[in-house]
Amino acid sequence: MTDTMIARLPEVDAFLSRASGSFIDGEHLSGSGRHADIIDPSNALSLTRLGLADEAIVDRAVASAKRCFDNGIWRGMKPAQRERILLKFADLVEAHGEELAQLESLNQGKSIHIARMVDVGFSVDFMRYTAGWTTKLEGQTTSVSIGMPEGAEFHAYTLRQPVGVVAGIVPWNFPFMITLWKVIPALAAGCSIVIKPATETPLSALRLAELALEAGVPAGTFNVVVGAGSIAGQYLAEHPDVRKVTFTGSTAVGKQIGHAAVDHMARFSLELGGKNPMLVLEDADLDKAVHGALMAGLLNQGQVCAAASRFYVHRSLHDAFCERLHGAIQGMSVGPGLDPAAQLNPLVSRRHQQSVLAHIERAQAEGAKVLRGAAVPEEGFYVSPVVLSGVTQQMTVAREEVFGPVLSVIPFDKIEEGLAMVNDSDLGLAASLWTNDLSQAMRLIPRIEAGTVWVNTHVTLDASLPFGGVKQSGIGREFGREAVEACTELKSVCIAY
Ligand code: NAP
Ligand code: MG
Repeated sequence: MTDTMIARLPEVDAFLSRASGSFIDGEHLSGSGRHADIIDPSNALSLTRLGLADEAIVDRAVASAKRCFDNGIWRGMKPAQRERILLKFADLVEAHGEELAQLESLNQGKSIHIARMVDVGFSVDFMRYTAGWTTKLEGQTTSVSIGMPEGAEFHAYTLRQPVGVVAGIVPWNFPFMITLWKVIPALAAGCSIVIKPATETPLSALRLAELALEAGVPAGTFNVVVGAGSIAGQYLAEHPDVRKVTFTGSTAVGKQIGHAAVDHMARFSLELGGKNPMLVLEDADLDKAVHGALMAGLLNQGQVCAAASRFYVHRSLHDAFCERLHGAIQGMSVGPGLDPAAQLNPLVSRRHQQSVLAHIERAQAEGAKVLRGAAVPEEGFYVSPVVLSGVTQQMTVAREEVFGPVLSVIPFDKIEEGLAMVNDSDLGLAASLWTNDLSQAMRLIPRIEAGTVWVNTHVTLDASLPFGGVKQSGIGREFGREAVEACTELKSVCIAY
C-alpha cells in the first residue's frame, strides 16, 4: 500500500450505514433472519452487514415486480417517457460516478481506475445506448397467402410486448456493470426485474436500485434480493411468476438455472464465461500483442469472462513473448483498489484466491514452468500473476476457466495447428487474432468457434455489438437490439376483413 490512497467519499459511508439487506418496492429491508458480512478484499474486514433473503423475501420481491407489471404503470407509459426516465437514470449514475466507482472498488477489490472507466464509464454509455431502443422496438407486417374462407382479405403483423417479470442473476466480477446489462434492456422493453447479486458483492446493485427510483422508475419495478445462490437464486429461477431468467456466471450453475427456467417455460439467457484464446501469427506486431495480452489477461486480475487465458504464439515469437510478459508482471505495483498507484489488486474473496492458487499448483504439478510476478502482501486476497510456459493442450490449465491472473503460453508452427488448438475447447465466448495479414484474418474469422472474434484487440466491448457465447459458454446475446428483444414476446396478429 502506498500513501496515495484516495479518501472515501462521505456518500459511500452514508450508503454503507443505510443498506440493510434486500431492496423491495422502493425500500431497504432489514430482515430478521440470517445476515452476512460484506468484505473488503484488500484487508478481509467487514464493510457492512446485510440481511439475507429467504424464500419468503424472494416471494415478496417477485410479487412486487409482478404487481408493477400487471398495473401497467411502467409498460403502459409512452416509450418516449420511459426512455427519458432511463436517460435520467444514466445521468444520475454519471453524476454519482465517483461514489459508485469507490463502492465497487471497495467491495470487489478492483482498481479505482477500472471502476471509473469501465464499470461506470462504459455503463453510462451502455445505459444511454440501450435506453434508445425503448422507442425503436417494432414488429413487421407480413404478406399472408391464406386462401379461406373464400373472398376473405387479411391483414397480418407482429407485435413486440414485454415478457413480464425478469430475474437477473449476477456474478461478482463486474457486479455493477452486469447488473445494468440485465436491468436496462428489461426496463427498456417495459418489464420489471428482480436482481440477485453474488453474495460477495451486493452493494452496487442496491445503490443502483435507489438511483433508478430517484430517476422515476416506479417503486417495485427494479428490486434486489440479497441472498445465497443456492437458496434465493435457485428459488428465483424456479419462481412461476418469473417469465425470463438472465444469468451470468459459471457453466455448472448456468445449466441448473436453464433447467429451472424450462420447468416453468420461462425464457432464459446464459452468459457462462470462457477459456478465451489469443492467436498470435508470425507476422504480428509483437509490441501490440504483448500489450494486448497484458490488458486481456490481467484486467480486473483476470476475473473477466472475456479475458484471454490461452496464448497461442508462433514459435518464432514465443520466447520473446514469454520474456516480455514475465518482465511486465515482475514490475507491477500491488495494493488495494483505492490506491491509484496499484496496478495489481486483490481477488474478490478468500475462496476464489484459494481456487486460483490451486490451479497454479496443479499446472506446475502437470509440468508447466511457472514464471512468477511481483510479490504480494499476506493480508488481503492477493494472487501474484504468473506466466506459464511449456503448457500443453492436455493440461487442466489449458482447459478449465481459472478466472485469475494466469497466462498460459503455447507455441505453434503452422496456422492450421494454431487454429485447431484455439477451437479445441468446450468453451467459446471470445477469441482474438493478432496479425496484419488481412487475407489470413478474413479466412480465419469465420473458422474460429467463438461468439466474438477480435482482430488486433481483445476485451473491447461496445453496447451496439451483441455479446455472448457458443458451445458451453452459453445461450443468447447481451447488448444491441438483441438484448432488448430478448425481454419481449413476439405476438402474431391476423385480421380478416
Ligand atoms: P456462480 O456460482 O456461477 O455464481 C454466479 C451467480 O449465481 C451468483 O449470484 C450466485 O450466487 C448465483 N448462484 C449460485 N448457485 C445458484 C443456483 N443454484 N441457482 C441460482 N443462482 C445461483 O459463480 P462463482 O461460484 O461465483 O464462480 C465460480 C466460477 O464461475 C469462477 O471461478 C469463474 O470460472 C466462473 N465465473 C464466470 C463469470 C462470467 O462472467 N461468466 C463470472 C463469475 C464467475 P452466490 O454468490 O450467492 O453463490
Ligand atoms: Mg458459486
